[in-house]
Amino acid sequence: VHIPLDRQSPAPLYQQIASFIRQGIQSGHLAPELRLPSSRSLAKDLGVNRITVEAAYAELESEGLVFSKVGSGTYVLPPSQFSPLPKASPGAPWPLWQQEIQANGPDVNKSPDLRLHEKRHPDPISFASGVGDYHRFPVEDFRKILQSVMRRDGISALEYGEDSGYAPLRATVANVLSSQGLQVGSENILITAGSQQSLALVSQVLLKPGDAVLVEEPTYSGALNLFQALGLKIIGVPVDQRGLQVDSLEKLLQQVHPRLLYTIPNFQNPTGTCMSSPRRLQLISLADRYNLPILEDDYVGDLRYEGHALPSLKSLDPGGRVIYVSTFSKMLMPGLRVGFLAAEGPVYDRLVAYKRVNDLTTSNLIQRALEAYVTVGRYQVHLQRSCQVYRKRRDAMMDEIERLLPEGIQISQPQGGLFIWLRLPEGLRADELLPYAIEEGVAFAPGSNFFLGSEAGSAFMRLNFTAHPPETIHKGIKRLQKAIKRLEAGVNLEHAANGR
Ligand code: PMP
Repeated sequence: VHIPLDRQSPAPLYQQIASFIRQGIQSGHLAPELRLPSSRSLAKDLGVNRITVEAAYAELESEGLVFSKVGSGTYVLPPSQFSPLPKASPGAPWPLWQQEIQANGPDVNKSPDLRLHEKRHPDPISFASGVGDYHRFPVEDFRKILQSVMRRDGISALEYGEDSGYAPLRATVANVLSSQGLQVGSENILITAGSQQSLALVSQVLLKPGDAVLVEEPTYSGALNLFQALGLKIIGVPVDQRGLQVDSLEKLLQQVHPRLLYTIPNFQNPTGTCMSSPRRLQLISLADRYNLPILEDDYVGDLRYEGHALPSLKSLDPGGRVIYVSTFSKMLMPGLRVGFLAAEGPVYDRLVAYKRVNDLTTSNLIQRALEAYVTVGRYQVHLQRSCQVYRKRRDAMMDEIERLLPEGIQISQPQGGLFIWLRLPEGLRADELLPYAIEEGVAFAPGSNFFLGSEAGSAFMRLNFTAHPPETIHKGIKRLQKAIKRLEAGVNLEHAANGR
């Protein structure tokens, strides 16, 4: 084959080769089934690298003009009966089914993009996060444990594990829960990829689109997003200093026949409140009378800085009414992606089956490492230290807020967990404050993230007090003070003023 090549041309050689053969095929000079010269011989004839010819053949193959048979060569294909696909190009329309997603799908992510924050300030401080201080992650301990587990268990640590989770980890979790008054056996524990997955599994098993689900209002935005994504009818029940207002529940139960109640009884996200004991008892009794499953999310129950632990709803459950969910994300590290749930009866078996169809199992290696970490007592030590450190940080943030922020701000001291929930004085809105705060170099989670309608949350903000040491908390609250002053004085935002 003689292919004229122009070595001065800006078109790469492989494209010149491909273009010549393409023309030959399209004009019929190169007939279907014809075997093209091997890349080695063509490269030799043309005085080019073999890779250049292979790239030309690959391009023709991606256009459906030739096909290659392993060990045999590259052949001309008969003209296709199908119309050729358009070439990928920027701005080309998506296929129709993708356009339908754009047009119809529920919009599940309503959190503002706080990454802007990082770009606008050289030294940003975020109180917006939903986990503890990542500088406190026991990285070195965990590295050693992982190594020793690999040495101890070898291949078996890298196989798929049991559907319900690594049996010794389930036993360990059951022991820990039993020591807290929640009597369960390992046969009632399912290990999941974090509590978010537990919430998703419970929803899949119990709910179908259009079903009504009761939530505390405000509540964890990840749960709201999940329930929205599943097409559920979400109904909010107000929360006060003693947690979910159980009194207002009975009427709702009669009116809307909800299929599930989702609650965070300990250090509620975002308000930080705990449900009182009488309300816990009342809730269990209502759930029993109205045949209502309860999903109890105990995401930071062990991070208590004072006062007595209250009985979990599950420990008050005479059997089968409550599904209890917890996680190692907040008390240890979120990237492990390990959580667990406790349930019994037919729902437990169904949850195990749904776990399997979702992701087969949670990482066997990480489960084994976690089991070793908890069993040697490291986890408990880490928790105790976290409680000491976080308690000081809570006190520091409470003090700074009272000292620096304007009168009229309302807060109450959480007895544990991660968050201070703050109500701004009359007339100030958290969503309007956020861009000023970001400009000053401090971020928070605006209240609207946690309510069903964004207006309801406009006066509130959630501050994570665990993420930074007291000096940084001081700096951050000072920045917030400045942002509030600028908002109150009606100063223009810099980026708005500059037209950025
Ligand atoms: N529940 C609550 C109340 C949370 O705050 C979070 C994390 N922000 C989760 C569940 C999910 O956590 P994970 O999946 O990491 O366990």
